[in-house]
Amino acid sequence: MAALSKSSLDGSFEKCIKCTVCTVYCPVAKANPNYPGPKQSGPDGERVRRKDPALFDDYLKLCTNCKRCEIACPSGVNIGDIIAQAKLTNTEGGWKNSGAISPKRVRDYILSSTDLMGGMVANPLAKIVNKVVALKPIKVVMEKTIGVSAQRTFPKYAEQSFVSWYKKQEATQNQFERQVHYFHGCSVNYNMPELGHALVEVLNKMNIGVQIAKKAKCCGVPLVANGFKDKAMKNATANIEVYKDELERQPGTIIATSSSCSYMLSDEYDHVLGLDNEPFKKNLQFFSRYLINEFDAGNMPKLKPLNLTLAYHTPCHLERSGGVIYTLELLSRIPGINLIRLDPNCCGIAGTYGFKEENYETSQKIGSPVFKQIEESGCDYVITDCETCRWQVEMSTTKEVLHPIELLARALA
Ligand code: SF4
Ligand code: SF4
Repeated sequence: MAALSKSSLDGSFEKCIKCTVCTVYCPVAKANPNYPGPKQSGPDGERVRRKDPALFDDYLKLCTNCKRCEIACPSGVNIGDIIAQAKLTNTEGGWKNSGAISPKRVRDYILSSTDLMGGMVANPLAKIVNKVVALKPIKVVMEKTIGVSAQRTFPKYAEQSFVSWYKKQEATQNQFERQVHYFHGCSVNYNMPELGHALVEVLNKMNIGVQIAKKAKCCGVPLVANGFKDKAMKNATANIEVYKDELERQPGTIIATSSSCSYMLSDEYDHVLGLDNEPFKKNLQFFSRYLINEFDAGNMPKLKPLNLTLAYHTPCHLERSGGVIYTLELLSRIPGINLIRLDPNCCGIAGTYGFKEENYETSQKIGSPVFKQIEESGCDYVITDCETCRWQVEMSTTKEVLHPIELLARALA
């Protein structure tokens, strides 16, 4: 397995001019006085850690990896990447190598093992598990034993995974002359297969078939966030190899509907894990960018007016990658939509972060301006491209959340 490399970040921390702008934009520093902030955790801390790795500060675990500091930094310091890499290098060797296994480490393992948990639960056990984990006494036990917040609502598992639905579609998809590869990710596979169905429906209307790589694994976002370095490297290396083969079999574009999976594959495989992610760097496009390019080339499906007021919430990683303009453009092409763009604030969930009892309060405090603005907007639906933002907003407001591709599928004439 390739080793974690610092090469892509070497020198980044030296560009810091100590202006502290990043700290002003850090949502965690605002919500939790225990967090030293991006400057101290990123470039300042990196100087110290390079002298003596034992000086790793445990408060780095409070960073949500939202990358808002990187957007604000005038010197182009990869602050979030530096912190993510420091967490990966210094987190007690992760699950596998850790001598003593603490209950919270068990929780981190469960929250990060999306393929393992989804594979066990989606399909046969979904109904039962969804009911059990929603019971208050079970939630209290989970908080007291392994530290999963009892106040958190769990996303529901689907009764049929996306991959198992797709297998019945495969022959139909293969009939299209034009094809795209779809990196569906764990949340579509195990929790929201209807989002994947919507993508297939829209693309098929545009005479494009959809290919999926059945051997693809979780992109690794939760593994990196929880310091499971070996497993994150294993998944990333496997995905790179799988897509090399897929592209050889069927050259073309890879698209993703999850803003965090997309950012991980195209940027963090390189910046944080130090891997050569050429298949994704060269061929991956976020779905909205792909669709806008198709529409502009004249391949746009007929759409009917929806007559809805929508509030759009920007996922942090989509903002970092610069992909927001494509999603906003896509939404503007749907007739009969009154679109309100919410202020670009973090919703506070940050994947598995907000599920941990020690982070719950910070998570909700970070998201509170978003929740307030949504409630005051008078919108019919909230729209966002990120699955965990969706869970956070649905739990914390009275509104239902849709992904832009679901909205587009509803608008198909
Ligand atoms: S914004 Fe950039 S340059 Fe300014 S303190 Fe933060 S890391 Fe350093
Ligand atoms: S990545 Fe987000 S939480 Fe972490 S230091 Fe930067 S702004 Fe703060």
